[in-house]
Amino acid sequence: MPLELDLGPAAQAFREEVRTWLASNAPKELIGVSADALQRGQVKGAREWADTLSAAGYMCVSWPKEYGGRGLTGIEVAVLNEEFARANVPRVTRGMGEWLVGPSIIVWGTDEQKKRFLPRIIDGTDRYCQGFSEPDAGSDLAALKTRGVIDGEEVVISGQKVWTSGATEANMMFCLCRTDQDAPKHAGISYVLLPMFKDGGESNGVELRPIMQPHGSSHFTETFMTESRAPVANIIGGMNNGWRVTMTTLGNERGGHATTQHVEYTKQFWEAVDMLKKSGKTSDPITRQQLAWAFSHVEIMRFQGLKLLSEVLARKEPGPAASINKMFWSEYAQKFTERMMNARGAEAMLIIDDKDGKYVADRWTSMFFQHRSSTIWGGTAQVQRNIVGERVLGLPKEPDPSKPRP
Ligand SMILES: Cc1cc2nc3c(=O)[nH]c(=O)nc-3n(C[C@H](O)[C@H](O)[C@H](O)COP(=O)(O)OP(=O)(O)OC[C@H]3O[C@@H](n4cnc5c(N)ncnc54)[C@H](O)[C@@H]3O)c2cc1C
Repeated sequence: MPLELDLGPAAQAFREEVRTWLASNAPKELIGVSADALQRGQVKGAREWADTLSAAGYMCVSWPKEYGGRGLTGIEVAVLNEEFARANVPRVTRGMGEWLVGPSIIVWGTDEQKKRFLPRIIDGTDRYCQGFSEPDAGSDLAALKTRGVIDGEEVVISGQKVWTSGATEANMMFCLCRTDQDAPKHAGISYVLLPMFKDGGESNGVELRPIMQPHGSSHFTETFMTESRAPVANIIGGMNNGWRVTMTTLGNERGGHATTQHVEYTKQFWEAVDMLKKSGKTSDPITRQQLAWAFSHVEIMRFQGLKLLSEVLARKEPGPAASINKMFWSEYAQKFTERMMNARGAEAMLIIDDKDGKYVADRWTSMFFQHRSSTIWGGTAQVQRNIVGERVLGLPKEPDPSKPRP
């Protein structure tokens, strides 16, 4: 395990508190279970563990106390994650509700909206998916065409989203729609919290078409909305002001996982070392060199994460430097899983299950596939470079492709 940083007496006291709590409360049957498996509801006891964490104040921990969070600092969040990793139990979160929607409501919502929506995220009543991308609006998100028409006290939404992760498990979507067709591209967009079901349980005009992935699962959908209705009171940040709210959400998507990443990747690194030792591959000089490369990257990620989170918590909103974090971990994860595939050789190949004739990928091979997408979602690696160039380094803006080159 990496060296434990001396983060001062307050952080040390918090570390002791979490360690003691976990020693008495961590369920034995969840030891070694990944947060991902738990989050997807594939494990027995997941709901009970979520309820225990919620009751003990370990849910939405970085939200301010007045909104039901724990008001933890960046350093304390880092300590919390390290202690869960040390106890080898998954830290359940409320997913996109906790790290994307909640923080955006805290910055942009009215008092009434904060009271209405935040507790439902903490107690798990509302599970959100992200309705941003469309077939012709990905990197250029402001090109979105989904329409929102005001009808009395409601906004009526029609259009198509794509790559909607976790939509089949969600009951709410934070959805971008164009509520002013004549305004310039970045204006005229509203950020709506759209119920996916009506009160009686039937669909609110939302149709989900799952997209099948190469390793057999279907994590996201094409999402079609036909006159889906939400109260106007569900528009966050005011009518036609959705772009500014979106920037807050995307900042959190790029920077908000800064403390979890190093914990996850440190654990993964040591598991890789164990796996390669068992198969005798650690005597290969190329594999050893790659492990040294990986270890130094994970350590850099740890320090980078701590730095970014302190900045985020001091300013309440992640700035453009969050893009450095997103770029670094996503490119690392992609290269690391690729190198592990090479190091494992033939044993990393997909095999066909004798029983049902389907391809089966083990955990490492699945991770390799999964990380192909890490440099795409949340803004592609190229788009992060544009942000770093223009908004961190102050370089000239990229040329508008629709205008002739000088
Ligand atoms: C696993 C996964 C999960 C996702 N989950 C969600 C979700 O839950 N909700 C949601 O709304 N969306 C989701 N997305 C969509 C994601 O946000 C988009 O795929 C992403 O923003 C890129 O958009 P695009 O696919 O349209 O590619 P494009 O924008 O068409 O980009 C194509 C290529 O052109 C490059 N490019 C584009 N513009 C520039 C530029 N200005 N400068 C340099 N290069 C450029 C890109 O880097 C890329 O290589 C998910 C995507 C993936 C892969």
